[in-house]
Amino acid sequence: SFAAMTDIAKSLRAKLEEIALIEAPALVSEQISADGTRKWALEVSGGNKIEAVFIPDGTRGTLCVSSQVGCALECQFCSTARQGFNRNLTAGEIVGQLWWANKRLGAYDARDEQGRLATGEKLITNVVMMGMGEPLANYDNVIDALKIMLDDNAYNLSKRKLTLSTSGMVPKIDKLAQDCPVALAISLHASNDTVRDKIIPHNKKYPIAELLAACQRYLEKSPKNYITFEYVMLKEVNDSLEHARELCKLLRGVECKFNLIPFNPFPNSGFISSSRSQILSFQKVLQEGSYITTIRKTRGDDITAACGQLVGSVQDKTRRQEKWKTIIPLVVSDATSP
Ligand code: SAH
Repeated sequence: SFAAMTDIAKSLRAKLEEIALIEAPALVSEQISADGTRKWALEVSGGNKIEAVFIPDGTRGTLCVSSQVGCALECQFCSTARQGFNRNLTAGEIVGQLWWANKRLGAYDARDEQGRLATGEKLITNVVMMGMGEPLANYDNVIDALKIMLDDNAYNLSKRKLTLSTSGMVPKIDKLAQDCPVALAISLHASNDTVRDKIIPHNKKYPIAELLAACQRYLEKSPKNYITFEYVMLKEVNDSLEHARELCKLLRGVECKFNLIPFNPFPNSGFISSSRSQILSFQKVLQEGSYITTIRKTRGDDITAACGQLVGSVQDKTRRQEKWKTIIPLVVSDATSP
């Protein structure tokens, strides 16, 4: 409690008592993948569950955090979308995932003489806002959380190691550039509006040309000199070499890198991942177009911790689950991995 904080002024303790709340997320379950990836389901107030994922990779440790309970967008290939939406997370609940993960991984156990974190200090080196939810749809709380993660009196993360991923809410991208420019990833997933309209319905509101114009403006403020475009590889939807060539043309003049994501299947998704060989051929076209293009390693898929598989347990306020039953999937097939 605040009363126990005897190293701060009594008046401040009293003020904190009035305006603040100390509340840690509660662990519901922990799963550890064969590759070391850990997924935590955490309960936040209201009985909702969110998920956070820790992905160790050599000296790098990345924590993937959620920004909302569920998601109000309707990206067709994402399992969080199927869960519907309940509410925004508070800034405390967003930072709380980082606090929780550090604690669980033992980061606070060892301190040097100056009281700095010792052994666990480098466990989490990167944070990505790529968990459940659309971060820019919960703008104010996400900004507060990012600022705490960056503050050298708090988590002292570098702006370059803090990545926000968005499906493309154009006005908020401009705002982010002003308020808290961090590394930006865009869930592009299509090379033209016809395809993108189908798989990311809010593309109708913010079409590709407007999105790319916002990316160009963002680059003037970005801590990195490029934007990362995420591209989920959906068999026979967006993965032809024609699409790859169209992408090359589309992004001409935008400083960027591509990250191809093999589609992570989930029950009744209606999609299948492109084959490994198709992904490699697609990559080759982009590379020949002089774009740096990586293929995302699928981590933690044995514990459904991979991109787009985070579902938590959401009390849906959108009646989404009923609604999905009436949506006809673009591709009907049993889901198979490449
Ligand atoms: N709402 C934000 C961040 C969350 S998702 C956004 O859209 O960017 C993080 C990434 O995983 C996004 O690029 C998202 O499109 C992608 N993704 C969603 N479902 C997926 C799936 N089933 N397989 C692979 N990637 C998926």
